[in-house]
Amino acid sequence: MTSFAECWGSGVRSGVGSWSRSSSAASCPATRCGRTAARAIRTARRQVTDLVGAKNELEIVFTSGATEANHLAILGAALAARTHGGHLVTTAIEHKAVLAACQRLVDHHGYTLNRVGVDAHGRVHPADIAAVLTPNTVLVSVMHANNEIGTLQRLAAIAEITAPRGIVLHTDAAQSAGCGLLDVAELGVDLASLSAHKLHGPKGIGALYIRGGTHVAAQQTGGGQECGLRAGTPNVPAIVGFGAAARLITTGAVPSPHCIRALRDRLQDRLLAAIPSAIVNGHPHRRLPGNLSLIIPGIEATDLLDRLPDIAASTGSACNTGSGEPSHVLTAVGLTRDQARATLRLSIGRTTTDTDVDQAADLITRTAHTLMPAPANAA
Ligand code: PLP
Repeated sequence: MTSFAECWGSGVRSGVGSWSRSSSAASCPATRCGRTAARAIRTARRQVTDLVGAKNELEIVFTSGATEANHLAILGAALAARTHGGHLVTTAIEHKAVLAACQRLVDHHGYTLNRVGVDAHGRVHPADIAAVLTPNTVLVSVMHANNEIGTLQRLAAIAEITAPRGIVLHTDAAQSAGCGLLDVAELGVDLASLSAHKLHGPKGIGALYIRGGTHVAAQQTGGGQECGLRAGTPNVPAIVGFGAAARLITTGAVPSPHCIRALRDRLQDRLLAAIPSAIVNGHPHRRLPGNLSLIIPGIEATDLLDRLPDIAASTGSACNTGSGEPSHVLTAVGLTRDQARATLRLSIGRTTTDTDVDQAADLITRTAHTLMPAPANAA
């Protein structure tokens, strides 16, 4: 429901703009431009540090996004701990970047992997994680919030299991950080992946939070940037934009999760009232405030959206792009193929209003009723 242009707060836009224009210098302190760039990166690092509740700016390593952060976290932590063991644990509903990084360790480095299942709400049970740990386990990776169904995981309870055993706990927090819901100290995680575009910042920039003292082997080496953990000339405009986007959240300059949740609940209530057969995916309460993943039984979500050009909802994650296969997340929570194909994902954006919600609910309801099989329509 939120356009690309709307996604960028003015603070973010002006930060990126001035950097793009002003400097081709990287962050080399030997030149004046370089010193200015280094200062700007320091400010952004502080802003991202504040966003996630980290103790120290040096715990933030900028990357090209959450995909790279996930790879640095998983490959880096596992390979750094190779002498201690070679067993990994993740869940069945992770983003593909996490699953691919884990699989790479299995295929090329001889690690073993458990993918723990989830319940019908998409929650992993800490006891199920505990049950698969072995003395060989070096890393557990559990996403904070799922990108399809929004479910939030009990990371603090998982940290209570991993920390005493000296197992590194990583979380893909790309979704929750954007809602201002990530506090690494409260959750007890050692590593957390972030993506700027999930908090209305620029694309192509992200970060990995690395708790002080956590061992991570660099996956990209060369010029020694980012404390030697991620070599390569820093993308200063994108980093500045990321910092500005983080600051908008920490200073309360954007709608609170409470406001977003109220709009989501309004949309959900209206749709459920008008389409009583509809089913909400994900956890009823413990999920991202702006997420509404809905099954409208008997209706292909693609057919519905084809008739709703004014609604920027998606079925994108309901079926893997182009493959026609139901998503691994919807399958993992127990949806049938038909239910997965009937799943529509709606998101509430920062600029969404009550009027937008009411119009969207009316449009979806009217269109869904025209597509419903005759008996359901008659009922
Ligand atoms: N992890 C999650 C949960 C995501 O939602 C996304 C993006 O959609 C990613 C990782 C990948 O992030 P990026 O596009 O910054 O690489």
